[in-house]
Amino acid sequence: MKIPRGFSYAGIHSGIKAARSDLALIFSELGCAAAGCFTVNAARAAPVRDAASRLPARGIRAIVANSGNANALVGPTGESDAREVCAAVARALDVAPDTVLAASTGVIGVRLPVQKLVAAAPQLASARGSAIELAAAAIMTTDTRPKLASGAIKVGSADVSVAAFAKGSGMVAPELATVLAFLTTDASISPQALDSALHRAVHQSFDMLNIDGDMSTNDTVIALANGAAGNAPIEEGTPEFEAIVSAFESICKDLGRQIAEDGDGATKLVEVHVEGAPDVDMARDLARAVAGSNLVKAAMFGADPNWGRVLAAIGARVGTRKWPIDPTRATVSVQGVCVYTNGGPAVIDAAAVRAKMREPHVLVSVTLVEGHERATAYGCDLSYDYVKVNADYTSQTQASPDGTIARDGRLTNYSPGFKHALLVEALSYISRFTNKRAVIKYGGAAMVKDSLKASFANDINLLRSAGLLPVIVHGGGPEITQTMEILGRGKSEFIDGVRVTAREDVKVVEMVLTGKVNTEIVSLLNQSSAHAVGVSGKDAGLLRARKLVSDRDLGMVGEVTHVNHELLEVLLDKRYVPVVSPVGLGEDGEGYNINADAAAAEIAIALRAYKLIYLTDVPGILVNGELVSEIGASDLVRKIEDGTIRGGMVAKAKSILRAIEGGVESVHIIDGRTAHSVIAELFTDRGVGTLVRRD
Ligand code: ADP
Ligand code: MG
Repeated sequence: MKIPRGFSYAGIHSGIKAARSDLALIFSELGCAAAGCFTVNAARAAPVRDAASRLPARGIRAIVANSGNANALVGPTGESDAREVCAAVARALDVAPDTVLAASTGVIGVRLPVQKLVAAAPQLASARGSAIELAAAAIMTTDTRPKLASGAIKVGSADVSVAAFAKGSGMVAPELATVLAFLTTDASISPQALDSALHRAVHQSFDMLNIDGDMSTNDTVIALANGAAGNAPIEEGTPEFEAIVSAFESICKDLGRQIAEDGDGATKLVEVHVEGAPDVDMARDLARAVAGSNLVKAAMFGADPNWGRVLAAIGARVGTRKWPIDPTRATVSVQGVCVYTNGGPAVIDAAAVRAKMREPHVLVSVTLVEGHERATAYGCDLSYDYVKVNADYTSQTQASPDGTIARDGRLTNYSPGFKHALLVEALSYISRFTNKRAVIKYGGAAMVKDSLKASFANDINLLRSAGLLPVIVHGGGPEITQTMEILGRGKSEFIDGVRVTAREDVKVVEMVLTGKVNTEIVSLLNQSSAHAVGVSGKDAGLLRARKLVSDRDLGMVGEVTHVNHELLEVLLDKRYVPVVSPVGLGEDGEGYNINADAAAAEIAIALRAYKLIYLTDVPGILVNGELVSEIGASDLVRKIEDGTIRGGMVAKAKSILRAIEGGVESVHIIDGRTAHSVIAELFTDRGVGTLVRRD
């Protein structure tokens, strides 16, 4: 991520939380124009009251933000505590105390452990660097991943960049939403212009975000602009001002979407469009009402196209406000499929709509007939996990006398019935998994998106701790295609999911697969452990190959003739996690490009794997848009023949058939676009995606 000039960031562990990082810093070499948007909650936290009274302002140098403790509803010490922290950070940075702002998020009603923060200030100051991710991680509470976004614009001849981060998760309702968000830019702009730009961006983004309808005490969005880009100061009412507003707006929307996707317990992002409203405030209000309706959200979790709940939510709002809108004349569509129109339900293929609603991003549109105004709101579904995360938040959050906030997840806190069920279930998986081998084909979005990469890495490490022996086989993702284009080798052609590979391109394929993609996956997995080992199909002759002969000449695409699994056995014995790049070594000494789906199947057979799992970008095998949760081998053959299975799925289906024939017990295709899908597949009895059985 490109960091604006003159800014540095830090994230450290100061001891508010028991183990995780909890203190973030943003620092600017130059005094900044600063502006903020804050919660309208009347019970707002001390740092919010303080910052709100000081902004907009000039000359701001730093923001110190802590997680774990909200510094809210603690009485009069709240404000003096916040000021003391600012003063300590100012001393450590050698700047004036009134140039530092504070923000807090976490548990309400516990006094901030000021001494710990004061003591940590020098360490915080010296940890400054360009790693904005560390600051983003330090403000997380129940967030499962850090949220970052950036953008760049030209102002005259100057390049202006904006880098931002946020946290969200629960207690997120419009105006604002629990959000801490910080935007940093090297633009030169006056505090007043910055203030109006920020307000406009927040109005279209965080104000339109609703996770759970509960407004927080701590919402804070602050923008800092230090002028290091050297542009002529941006004035309101100019095209440059509009450009920075739209950069802020798209960054805030991006952060808002990340917050909605990662809402407590959320499994999907829900976007609600309302159009045809008599005025824009009505459109905004109605969009937020639909996104905030518990029944709509529960239906989204269940992938149920229940348009009645959408119109009920609209009707309730319209009725209480006595607005001149007739909800019965609206048109409602879900994922682009019209479900209600002309005063009645539309004829739909409910199964197909349900399949579309299993996507990680669901769009609900309501078109009214009373006007021309429109608005978009963001939210998420309501899952069982929302209650789990929030039911016992304070009773499981323990503040020790020294102010450390620890999550007390000890089993003793649970009811005996729950404890029993949890232990029995966990033990049964652990005994089932011990020393079993699972080959996982890693592909699609799970390889590209940062948050999914992180959850994949966590899952693999968890599976390994539960006794399973995972082996990862990866594809090239979009990297090979991109590199080929950069090198001017033109667009790749795919036949049934297999990349046609010219002789002169096989080196590029190998370079990207083994040199780049493989090492990146190994680094990702070894960030939190040190067990992943990168292996090319050429290493120790793992994948022997010959030219794959088919109707069309596929060039240097190989088929596996033999898997020399000795090296993998050695690694698995020592409980390492092999990460295989699918390059084959020909008898002729040539390198061959092996389709990763096929390589995974051959490796699973050779290792007598207990499971073979394909992570991809669809919920599983789809027939008429509907997910097939189980299918037999001969049925799968028919689906290839009759063209129900096409493109990239053909390579997978053929590989699956080969694996089953070769003795692999169960093969699954699962949706890599949803976080933790590997865990969901292995640790639940229902399974997810498509299971292919032997006949
Ligand atoms: P990967 O990167 O995971 O190998 P591919 O694009 O090669 O993904 O293969 C999966 C693709 O196959 C799906 O995204 C989908 O477009 C396509 N496909 C074709 N027929 C089907 C089907 N019946 N069910 C599911 N996906 C299908
Ligand atoms: Mg593929």
